[in-house]
Formats: sequence, structure tokens, C-alpha cells
Amino acid sequence: MKLPIDQMCATTGTLCAKCQRAVREGKVSKLEIDLSKLIVKTVGKNRKYKDITLKRAVRLRAAVLLIVGKNQKDLWKDPNVGLVNAISDKFGTDVVILEETKNPRHLVEMLITPATPKEITKVFIPPFGEEEYVIKIPKEQEQLLRFTSEELAEILKSVTGASAYISFE
Ligand SMILES: [Zn+2]
Repeated sequence: MKLPIDQMCATTGTLCAKCQRAVREGKVSKLEIDLSKLIVKTVGKNRKYKDITLKRAVRLRAAVLLIVGKNQKDLWKDPNVGLVNAISDKFGTDVVILEETKNPRHLVEMLITPATPKEITKVFIPPFGEEEYVIKIPKEQEQLLRFTSEELAEILKSVTGASAYISFE
């Protein structure tokens, strides 16, 4: 398993020095620790889940968003195992599963589907040249979005580190 904290730490509930440091440095959130524990509890003994990967998790207004390993969506959603249900029960909210991508454009496209961006451009903001993605979505497609523009920006930031500015036009 590749979880935000070590499988051993998720099993015992006591974090080692390395995991504690990751938490202190803000690389791992409380939500991600709770999820790691729940995942180990639910599927830790299931061989089929030995390579399961949780990259990041983001709490949204109406859902918990999980960024999981490539080609793992079906594994997470397997109705016989009920992993998504266990997470949904524990956090009292919907669960949205997205497969990881290194490409912010691809991530944006997955997040806003079925809407399609008019334009995604990368700009560099002075004075430090921080990356920002400017995402233009056709105004008439705004109601197709599952996330608010603030949520989209938050997801992009926590998954890729890049800032985002979303406009509807
Ligand atoms: Zn650890």
C-alpha cells in the first residue's frame, strides 16, 4: 500500500518520526491520516489491495476527494469490498475518486468534466514567477461543474502545487 503515512503507522495509530515530520511540514493532513487508518482497517488484509495508492485527499463542501493511483478507480469502487462506502459513512459525505496525473491541465479537465475548458493557460506571476493556471470555462457550462471555483483552485493547489484562477465567460 502507498498511503500518505506508512502502513505500519496507519495500523498502530502511532506515527513514527518520519510521518510526524510530514505532518508538521504540512505534507500530510489530519484527513489523510484518518483515511489511511480507515483504509488499512477496511482492506489491509486483502491481497488484492496490496498495491493500493492514495496520493492525496481534499475535504470539500459536499465531498471528500481522493487522488488515487493510476488505473485504480475500479479497485476503490469495487462494490463487493465497499471501501468507498466505508469512507462515505465515516466522513458522512460523498466520495469522489480521481486517478493521479502529473499534468495540471489533465487534472483540470477531469475535474470539470462534462464541461470542457475554452482555454487553459499557464502564466508566471511576478516577482517570484509562481505558476498559475488560468482556466476559462464557457459561462453556459457553469452549472455542469461538480465543484465551486474555490474548490477547483484548492484541489489543484494541493495536488500539483500550482495556483489556479477560474473564470466563466
Ligand atoms: Zn511512519
